[in-house]
Amino acid sequence: MNKKKWIWIFAAALFVAWLLCLPRDLFKGVSYSTVVESAEGELLGARIAADQQWRFPPCDTVPERFAKALVQFEDRRFRWHPGVDPAALGRALVDNVRSGHVVSGGSTLTMQVIRLSRQKERTLWQKMIEAVLATRLELRYSKRRILALYASHAPFGGNVVGLEAASWRYFGRPAAELSWAESATLAVLPNAPASIHMGRSRDELLAKRNRLLLRLKEHGDLSADDYEAAIQEPLPDAPLPLPSWASHYVEGCPKGVRTRSSLRLSLQRAVEEAVNRRSDELAREGIADMAAVVIDNHSGEIVAYVGNASPYRERTGVSVDIALAPRSTGSILKPFLYKAALEEGVILPRTLLPDIPVNLSGFAPQNFDRQFYGAVPADEALARSLNVPSVFLLRQYGVPKFHALLRSAGLSTLTQTPEHYGLSLILGGAECKLAEITAAYSALATENGLAQWYTMDALKEVNRPDELDWRLIRSVRKAAWKTGTSYGFRDAWAVGMTPRWTIGVWAGNADGHGVPGLTGARTAGPTLFDILNLLPEDKEWFCHSERSEESVWTSVCHDSGMLAGPDCPGEDLLIPAAGLDSEPCPYHRTDEFVLPPVMEWYYRPYHPEYTGATARPASTAVQFIYPQTGAVLSIPRQLSGEKEGIVFRAAHHRPDATLWWHMDNTYIGETRFQHELRLTPAPGKHTLTVVDDEGNTAFVRFTIID
Ligand SMILES: [Zn+2]
Repeated sequence: MNKKKWIWIFAAALFVAWLLCLPRDLFKGVSYSTVVESAEGELLGARIAADQQWRFPPCDTVPERFAKALVQFEDRRFRWHPGVDPAALGRALVDNVRSGHVVSGGSTLTMQVIRLSRQKERTLWQKMIEAVLATRLELRYSKRRILALYASHAPFGGNVVGLEAASWRYFGRPAAELSWAESATLAVLPNAPASIHMGRSRDELLAKRNRLLLRLKEHGDLSADDYEAAIQEPLPDAPLPLPSWASHYVEGCPKGVRTRSSLRLSLQRAVEEAVNRRSDELAREGIADMAAVVIDNHSGEIVAYVGNASPYRERTGVSVDIALAPRSTGSILKPFLYKAALEEGVILPRTLLPDIPVNLSGFAPQNFDRQFYGAVPADEALARSLNVPSVFLLRQYGVPKFHALLRSAGLSTLTQTPEHYGLSLILGGAECKLAEITAAYSALATENGLAQWYTMDALKEVNRPDELDWRLIRSVRKAAWKTGTSYGFRDAWAVGMTPRWTIGVWAGNADGHGVPGLTGARTAGPTLFDILNLLPEDKEWFCHSERSEESVWTSVCHDSGMLAGPDCPGEDLLIPAAGLDSEPCPYHRTDEFVLPPVMEWYYRPYHPEYTGATARPASTAVQFIYPQTGAVLSIPRQLSGEKEGIVFRAAHHRPDATLWWHMDNTYIGETRFQHELRLTPAPGKHTLTVVDDEGNTAFVRFTIID
């Protein structure tokens, strides 16, 4: 009784020990390659594991041909045995005793999985432990899973571990696409992994493979015809390089695991080729680097990504992923301001914005062409990317509000306070990442409000034909697009949208040096349209709903684009409802369209139809053009050291008016037709006043510093 009890306790203890003998994670501590796949599961690229082995993260399944070949070669009773195969072990024992040393394994595939996980010496004692652990492994996992564990960790020669890595290294294809001959080669290889490279043992390898193919045919896995074809296939040559698409993207993926990305392999290849081709051309002009991001607006996912073009072209910045590098934004943020100002009723679609010299606490914006146009409709200012009107618009909209808007649009690099950027925020005063800017544009493209529609309409390429040499572009598809060029010709941006796709392109030098002639339109634009041509065409353009509660028809002044007053030539326009609270047109008095003198002075040369005032209200008859009140000026010197003087300039609405000039209440001269005086005021604060023959006056206060 007692003895029986002890036997039971001993048996139970053995059983518990057996249950607990297998580590929870068999391959704990093993490092794997970084593997990145396309959205469809194709290999984009991989990186070697931390221990310098090509060992792909384990799969849960094994392709059918390899599984059949492996079982046939290694362990024919695998499907039925409980982890150990007594018949095979017995035969191995006999063989070993006969020859006097270990010649035959007799190990099942399950035991081999245990051996691969433990990496112990091959002794009889270890083999017994492996047998026990193998029975326990059979309890834990399905046969399929055990095969997968084996396939993922078996050695395949050199530093190639696991079926998936071996398949790519030797055959350049995923394991699921291997032929019978290839599957058989890989099934026999773990048994003699060195033979793959050795010239002489390759004959043995070939013989082994063909014997296995014959067995597969005899077993009925392989037809006679397939067998005849299979034995004709040659063995693989030197290992092949792995695919290397989206190399910067792959580099940024989590290490040592398999990542299923959102990239589309076929598109990725085409985009990479297009970007590399353009970048190689630009490299001859000293523009070494280029990045591009393509987003599917429907899913919001990145479908193609080039962190830097032409990785094969040796240069210092080649490893920099520029799509993630903060770069000066130039004009690329302007559409977000236009859309927000329109949506919130700060302006209407074609509100006239000032385009005149201005000095805002020391900030004196210039247009790209260094011209002033007096006054420009907001949509045209956006399409032509004029700097001065956007600065006026940003001042009206508010820097802190715009800053918050950009942050919430995902531009994570705007880490400084709004005050730090000031009004230069709209002219490239901030640095952003191409990937984030493209995502923000993609979000803009998926809205379908009226303000968004007007923004897209302003950005259509038909509105800006002269920025780009269209002969460089094979075929032009309709897109809303914006360019940006940063100060010093360092960054060229082009971002384009269709309802379905958003494409962002950056070109320049990773090290930040500028290249004269680099512009967003000419340098980045052609690549944008090359990529657009690779994408499936959209069937429709952006649309908006007229019945939306957020839009209303209202009368808008034909000349100023603002809400029509009683004297304005009005026309009906659908505007965002918030626009009803926008400023009414201040430029019409008794049917005449009259701009303030400074705007008029710059506006008139571009608008021959503009007549101006016949009888102007006194307060706006005369204005200073330069300087603006509050300006702080220093007097330029000639090379000799002599002071050159500053040209002060005023404008009068009547071409033949005479102006009398006074500095600090002292008369200093008069002008007619052309109201300019070159003066050299002493350092300090001054007031300059002009008076016309009707007694209208204007004055400006400024400070001269030494
Ligand atoms: Zn008006």
